Amino acid sequence: MRRGELVDKGTGRMTRRPARIVVLGGGFGGLYAAMTLQRELAGSDMAQVTLVDRRNYFTFTPFLPEVAAGTLGRAHVTYPFRFLAQKEQFCFIQGAVQDFDLVKRTVRTETTAIPYDYLIVSLGGAPSFFGNPHIAAHALTLNSVDNALAIRNHIIRLFEHAVVETDPIRRRQLLTLVVAGAGPCGVEVVAELDHLIRTALLKYYPVDPSEIRILLVSKGDRILPHFVGELAETGQKELIKRGIEVRLNTQVTWASEEYVEFDGYERISTRTLIWAAGVTPNPVLAQLPTSKSQQGGVVVDEFLKLPDFPEVYVIGDGASVLDRRQGQPYPALAPVAIRQGIRAAGNIMNTLQGRAMEPFRFDFTGNIVGLGCGMALVNLLGIKFHGRLGWWFYRMAHLQRLVSFRNKASLTLTLALNAIFDRDISCETWFEDNRRINSETVSPALPRSGSPVAS
Ligand SMILES: Cc1cc2nc3c(=O)[nH]c(=O)nc-3n(C[C@H](O)[C@H](O)[C@H](O)COP(=O)(O)OP(=O)(O)OC[C@H]3O[C@@H](n4cnc5c(N)ncnc54)[C@H](O)[C@@H]3O)c2cc1C
Repeated sequence: MRRGELVDKGTGRMTRRPARIVVLGGGFGGLYAAMTLQRELAGSDMAQVTLVDRRNYFTFTPFLPEVAAGTLGRAHVTYPFRFLAQKEQFCFIQGAVQDFDLVKRTVRTETTAIPYDYLIVSLGGAPSFFGNPHIAAHALTLNSVDNALAIRNHIIRLFEHAVVETDPIRRRQLLTLVVAGAGPCGVEVVAELDHLIRTALLKYYPVDPSEIRILLVSKGDRILPHFVGELAETGQKELIKRGIEVRLNTQVTWASEEYVEFDGYERISTRTLIWAAGVTPNPVLAQLPTSKSQQGGVVVDEFLKLPDFPEVYVIGDGASVLDRRQGQPYPALAPVAIRQGIRAAGNIMNTLQGRAMEPFRFDFTGNIVGLGCGMALVNLLGIKFHGRLGWWFYRMAHLQRLVSFRNKASLTLTLALNAIFDRDISCETWFEDNRRINSETVSPALPRSGSPVAS
């Protein structure tokens, strides 16, 4: 392989130097793009790859509901980028992207400006509260390991409070949980938290089970809207069987320290609103001077690049890529982001090697959602199954997708230990204050110091 041939902007002459490929965001899209480039470039000096992320690790989001429920921990779902950066032609910069200058081909983080010849933007999404500041201020979200751990700590602290709370109304408030959003994330987290409470917390906390209330709320008329109806119905029946209240055609309209409001009038007294009801493209993408979809996704062509800046690719949850066969955009899912990362990297390699680019195509093979308690719903190439077999398949599918052998080994060992021992229910102490557990409103036993948990 030869060095990339690039036009020097100052002189207008062709120069030969390694092309600078910058990948923004090391989530599913960005990480797979970077790993593909690293593999393709092995042993060549054609290009230098720089990965930029505000965190220094990759997060395996499908396991975050289990982190929130305490069955898995940080080490199972994270992968440090520095492990990749040990290889040649690859470097990592920790920084938060703030701005793009597409004309000067530079990206700005809070600390530095990074020049590029080719850019892959994979900055993911952010929770959408549909412009409701009250919900934004009081909801707990599940889009990072820290947030998942904050939910876990929050639930355990609620139980610590509940056992010393003498007022039954206050106690019920502490023991009521609302999860908003009945897509895969909402369903998985409500099922996992129910499992945590029924199998672990009730064993160790002297709490009356009849005082516990767990609600799953959706403005849609069914759970798992992207699933085949038959499987979604099975899932819904299973949740109801476990005692979870499934409230459909219901919208969360307000939230405060003390309650969550449904449809503008019904108030549920609770200190816990977990928000899995909407995702929007990363707000920093608004800085890209290009056309956006109605949802704010960056519109790219079938090769995943910006029509006016062919050296810039946008992929993953932040991109709006039309599936021409279905006539609608691809959904915001990990397998889509992974395939887009691989395709964008492949197209940059094609360009560097003088080959034609290939359009992005993706065919879904099915979908899976875990329901905790050793149960999952699976649709594999139209074959639908659930229960134990579904759970086994769910585990294998995710295990196979984990990035490193270290993650796979530690997950396997932990699952084996979890089958024998109870999960860890120790939690951070009061210094990690949480919006829901406010020292002034709940119990005099709570200290007043603390900083709010970011989410
Ligand atoms: C709790 C949860 C569970 C999920 N479960 C599933 C599932 O089971 N199956 C499935 O298919 N999909 C699932 N998803 C969706 C899936 O995670 C996304 O579709 C996928 O991660 C999108 O990949 P991405 O590369 O676009 O973004 P992400 O994977 O979100 O990566 C974005 C990266 O950009 C970084 N970043 C963000 N902003 C900046 C900035 N300003 N500067 C620098 N870096 C920045 C982030 O740190 C992150 O590393 C789940 C999502 C969540 C939140």
